[in-house]
Amino acid sequence: MSEDWRQKARNMLEKKRKDSPENITSEKAKEEAKIRLAKFQAKFRCHVCGLRSAGPFSHSSNDGLGWQDRSRVDTTYTNWDIPSDLTKCNKCNEWTCSEHLESGICQTCAEKYG
Ligand SMILES: [Zn+2]
Ligand SMILES: [Zn+2]
Repeated sequence: MSEDWRQKARNMLEKKRKDSPENITSEKAKEEAKIRLAKFQAKFRCHVCGLRSAGPFSHSSNDGLGWQDRSRVDTTYTNWDIPSDLTKCNKCNEWTCSEHLESGICQTCAEKYG
C-alpha cells in the first residue's frame, strides 16, 4: 500500500498553516505598524536638523503615572501624539531633538532672540 497519502496530508496541513488567518493578520498588523511608524516619523522631526523621532511616547500601566489599574496586567500605552525623544520649543512650538534644545528653547530661537 502506498504511503503517498501521508505526504499529501502533511502538505495539506502545511498549506493550511500558511494560509491561516492568524498568519495573515499578524503579517498585516506588522505591515500596518510599519506604515504607522513611517507616517509618525514623517510628522515628528526635529525642525532644526530634521532628525526623525525614534517612535511614539509609551509607558506601561504599572509605572506609577496614575493610569487606572483595571486588571493589574502590564499593559503598554502608546501615545501617537507625542514623540518619545522630541520636545516642543517653548518659543516657536516646534518639535526639537535634545541636541538642539536647551532649557526648553531650541537653537534657532536661542540664536534669533538670545
Ligand atoms: Zn535636532
Ligand atoms: Zn524654537
